[in-house]
Amino acid sequence: MTAPTPSLNPLSHTSEEFVALARPLGVRTPAALAAYRACFRDGTLAAGVARASVPEIGTEVREESPEGTVIKFTQRVPGVGPSPGAESGNHAARPAFPDLRTESVLIPMISSRGERSYTLCVSSQIGCAMGCTFCETAQMGLIRSLSPAEIVGQWYAATHVLGIRPKNIVFMGMGEPLDNLPNVLQAIAVLKDHNGPHVPVSQITVSTSGRVDGIRALAEHVKQPGWHRLGLALSLNAPNDTDRSAIMPLNRKWPLASLQEALLAWPQRSGNKVCIEYVLIPGVNDSPAHATQIADFFRPFGLLAAGRIAGQPIMAVLNLIPYNPRRNSPWPAPTEDAVDAFLQRLIELGVFAKRRRTKGRSMMGACGQLGSEAIRKRRPVDLTISA
Ligand code: SF4
Repeated sequence: MTAPTPSLNPLSHTSEEFVALARPLGVRTPAALAAYRACFRDGTLAAGVARASVPEIGTEVREESPEGTVIKFTQRVPGVGPSPGAESGNHAARPAFPDLRTESVLIPMISSRGERSYTLCVSSQIGCAMGCTFCETAQMGLIRSLSPAEIVGQWYAATHVLGIRPKNIVFMGMGEPLDNLPNVLQAIAVLKDHNGPHVPVSQITVSTSGRVDGIRALAEHVKQPGWHRLGLALSLNAPNDTDRSAIMPLNRKWPLASLQEALLAWPQRSGNKVCIEYVLIPGVNDSPAHATQIADFFRPFGLLAAGRIAGQPIMAVLNLIPYNPRRNSPWPAPTEDAVDAFLQRLIELGVFAKRRRTKGRSMMGACGQLGSEAIRKRRPVDLTISA
């Protein structure tokens, strides 16, 4: 029997790592680089020493929006076995999940100059441990984190299977990216590799629910050359600790003051604002008092004067997102009038605020709606964030 030919998965490595790993296998640098580039540029799965392992697409759902077709797709990835105690009926133990899927969404955009592009929203985990009450993914609990190759595989599937090369990548799918920071950083290193996908780092955004330790670690990382312009987004969703802790349990561990301090320490580059996401939920976070508290939170980042940028630089922008009801949601979506009125109030208070249009709501592919209903039904929510 002959031994299998050694091979490397380009989706796991930067080109520099790939070349270094190929050398002991007797592959010279030009041949290794050619195989690496063929994978990312042409979608070639097997070339020379490269064997790309890309999870197959499980489902693909399309929905029309005014800016184009929204495409939500899943990919099959290896499952997990039961944790110790599951067979004996221990409720704290995790059952087996043999069939897991990543979930990604391709979101069409039209720029103010009329240029069309796509943003790819990627998952960093299957499920999520953060337990945000408004979020579909939270209902699954955390099943497992994704590997760098499984994250990069979502870009590969969009580009080379669905034929849509995304301009932007946002880590806003399933999972808290800062809960899986080493793998997310490695995936970004591959995604921005000029021999690989070559997505400019300024077109990549990591979105967190507010893990202060992770924001600090990421802030250190982006001080390195080649990482300066990585985008950071925060899901704020409530501007006082009482309301935020009620809908986002991690706020009990990292309250707003510590979060604001970590965001203010984020290395700012010209024009590179921290994006603060605010999901507007009727009766939860949409009162005039909430608008005033948002302005208070924004003051250290700079406020507008009479609706204009004047004087001090503006270091943060608020993205107002109408709530997309999750399955069995206790809250409805806000009305268009309510969203417009809240946005107007924020601008009057000096907050640099914009509205994000909702896309993909009816197919459960919009913000906070990713997650498998089948898994959610099988598993109670299980929070791992301790107060
Ligand atoms: S909103 Fe984000 S952090 Fe919160 S539970 Fe959902 S996926 Fe996790």
